[in-house]
Parts: sequence; structure tokens; C-alpha cells
Amino acid sequence: MVNAFSPQELTEALQIRRKTSAIPFAGGTNLMVIYKKWTGTVPCFPGPVLFLNRIRGFSEIRRQGADMVIAAGCTLSEILKNPLVPEILRLAVKSIAAPAIRNIATLAGNICHASPAGDALPALYVMDATVKLQSVSGERILPLSAFITGPGQTVLKNDELLTEIILPESQFDKIMFRKIGMRKANAVAKVSIAALASSEKSHLNDVRIAFGSLGPTVIRSEEIEKKVAGEKAAALTPADIVRLYAPLLKPIDDQRSTAAYRKHVALNLLHKFLELI
Ligand SMILES: Cc1cc2nc3c(=O)[nH]c(=O)nc-3n(C[C@H](O)[C@H](O)[C@H](O)COP(=O)(O)OP(=O)(O)OC[C@H]3O[C@@H](n4cnc5c(N)ncnc54)[C@H](O)[C@@H]3O)c2cc1C
Repeated sequence: MVNAFSPQELTEALQIRRKTSAIPFAGGTNLMVIYKKWTGTVPCFPGPVLFLNRIRGFSEIRRQGADMVIAAGCTLSEILKNPLVPEILRLAVKSIAAPAIRNIATLAGNICHASPAGDALPALYVMDATVKLQSVSGERILPLSAFITGPGQTVLKNDELLTEIILPESQFDKIMFRKIGMRKANAVAKVSIAALASSEKSHLNDVRIAFGSLGPTVIRSEEIEKKVAGEKAAALTPADIVRLYAPLLKPIDDQRSTAAYRKHVALNLLHKFLELI
């Protein structure tokens, strides 16, 4: 019985997905953990596996007009090496795991795993990233915030693959990504924040802020961002803005941290960013 496929063409991969709903396997750094039974034993997958790492052209990073397109097979290390990659994404990707994992793990895997603690996600949210989903029947492009619907949940259909991550061009003078974990490498985030701002004279004209590990999915409020940007908002102090965000952050207690610690640290990091502006 065939229980793994390793196509070299995307069209073939999509046909396999259509026929078998095989589990897409990119770097496998999440999947091998999810399907391992006991430490030291071989993982046991519930169905056939579709390896994506031999698909031609699946690890390309290119410009498409004003957008940057990252093909789904790009590893995190390839992203870090590419000079086109925006700084906020570079900082976030650099905080993931350690080099050995980054050499095989992909950005698409980080997205499709949809962990509330996925480190690339807050940076992708503030960049207004979209994802391209393809199947034999066609394609659709969705904002990342519509693709991820909850912890470990996305709207990916059984016959689809995520094929591209699309980043619109953006220019910001202030950039911050911070992740707080148990240690510097190979640690799941207790809290993370990605923030971008550009200012004009004494006021902000664009500000985007997203938090990771502070709720079931990344938290970003375009409503607050609109209140905070523009000339009229110049009177708002960093403390005022922190107060606007505080009710949105609803972290949980777990083995890594307490909800109270997570919220306190997240708001301190936000305050620090606002003071930079
Ligand atoms: C030791 C260790 C440390 C880690 N540290 C971190 C960390 O600091 N921060 C962090 O965020 N994560 C961390 N991770 C988790 C993991 O490495 C990342 O989430 C990584 O980006 C996953 O990518 P992958 O290619 O290995 O995904 P995979 O394991 O191959 O796949 C993950 C999920 O995405 C799906 N998938 C993958 N590609 C596609 C596609 N193209 N289309 C549709 N579905 C797809 C898979 O079916 C699966 O459901 C760590 C993991 C390990 C083992």
C-alpha cells in the first residue's frame, strides 16, 4: 500500500490532494511532534503523507509588482538569507527554533499549524499578508487573518495546498519584534509582539500592532490603529494607547506562563514601542 507521495510538480501534488487528501508534509517539524506516539518511536500518521519538498519552483522568493511572493516550500533559513525579505519578518523568523530546525521548517508550515504561539504570525499580520490556496479546481487568495480561524484551525480544504504567501510592499520607520520565551532558542513564545509605525511631524500616519500568545489567534485591532494614527490622535500618550489595548489581550494560564504575566509583559512591550516613536 502506498502511504507517501513525493511529487515533483505542483499539478501532480494537487491531483494527489484531490484523490487522497494526503497530509501535506513540508519540513515536518510540527507533524513529527504531533504524530509521534512515544519518544524514540517512529511517528504514526493517520493517513497518506504528501511530501512537498521536491516540488519544482516551490521554494522561490520573488517580486510581483509591488508585492513580494514567498513560495510555500521556502524554508525559514532561505527566508533569512534573502535580501528582499522585510526586516519585521526577518526578526520574527530568526526567533523561531534554532538553525537546524529552520533549515527544514517552512513559513507555510508555521502558518498552517496555526498555533497561537506561531512566531511568524504577528509579523505577517502587521504586513497584511495574504495566502494563496490552490486546488485542482482553482485558487483563492485570503488575508491571513481570514485563513486562520482558531488554535490549530484554518479554512484550508482537504483538496487544497497553501502555495504562496504574498506580502504587499510597505515602508515603516519604526519596527519592533519581540518574543519572550523560557530561553533564547528552541522555546515556545510566552508573549510576542510585532509592531510597525511611520510618523509625520508630530503624529503617526500608520501604525500596526499584533500580539502572539495572547489569545486563541493573533490579536490585531485595526479599529484601535485608526484611532491612534492621524493628527487628531497626536494628543494620545503611550499610556492612553496601552489602556485601549488592555481589554483585547486575553491570554491563558498554561505550563509556560501565567495569564497575568503574559498580559503585563505584552503591555510593557507595547509601551516601550510607543515610546520609540
Ligand atoms: C525543536 C522545535 C522548536 C520549535 N520552535 C519554534 C519556535 O520557536 N517558534 C515557532 O513558531 N515554532 C516552532 N516550532 C514549530 C515548527 O518548527 C514551526 O511551526 C515550523 O515553521 C513548521 O514548519 P514545517 O515546514 O516543519 O511544517 P510541517 O510540520 O511540515 O507542517 C505543519 C502543518 O502545516 C501543514 N502544511 C505545511 N505546508 C503546507 C502547505 N503548503 N499547504 C497546506 N498545508 C501545509 C501540515 O500538513 C501541518 O498541518 C518548533 C518545532 C520544534 C520541533
